[in-house]
Amino acid sequence: MNAKNGMLFVVAAPSGAGKTSLLKELSKKNNRVIISISHTTRKPRDGEIEGEDYFFVDEKSFKKLIEENHFLEHARVFGNHYGTSHSFVESQIQTGKKIILEIDWQGMQKIKAKGVEIIGIFILPPDYITLEERLINRQKDSSTTIKQRMDAALDEISHYKEFDFIVVNDKFDETVAKLNEIISDPKTDHNRRNSSHDDFISKIMAQRD
Ligand code: 5GP
Repeated sequence: MNAKNGMLFVVAAPSGAGKTSLLKELSKKNNRVIISISHTTRKPRDGEIEGEDYFFVDEKSFKKLIEENHFLEHARVFGNHYGTSHSFVESQIQTGKKIILEIDWQGMQKIKAKGVEIIGIFILPPDYITLEERLINRQKDSSTTIKQRMDAALDEISHYKEFDFIVVNDKFDETVAKLNEIISDPKTDHNRRNSSHDDFISKIMAQRD
């Protein structure tokens, strides 16, 4: 991939950290930002729009897309398949856009393994309780799925060291500003992962018990 002007970012977060709303706001504020739209075999949630939130496809079509080499990466998450379109990313990078992939840590690893340059940003909830409350308040998933997502959230958090930047989503507007600063100047040291995040994350993990 020839990232002449544009850049590729992964923004990952445990479910319930507020990632989707943050990125929607960021793309309104910065017109160079493009959020990649993945394909998924998951059923649409209430309010989700085809071609805006995801391209919703069935298992058979997803398999066909894999065979046609359509994906830069794809993974199975919570029993559903998700994939990032290679041609979409490539064409946007050529136009100098900042492409944000809303994918998980597995996806980022697969892209890095292909030798593609990508900057990882990890969004954290301010504490464990907030994470739990946001997941429950969402009420778009069954309680079994919420429990599954809570376990997966902690698992996702355990991969924070693989990311270049850590942003704690405490105050919405400030978090959007931090994300904008990182994508506008990826050489910035602000919010770059450092040893202070180790203590913060240990505290979140400890709140589980
Ligand atoms: P949700 O079903 O809540 O929209 O997403 C569930 C998880 O799948 C999230 O962690 C999200 O980042 C991840 N995900 C969404 N699209 C992709 C994708 O194209 N590739 C990968 N690897 N993960 C994705």
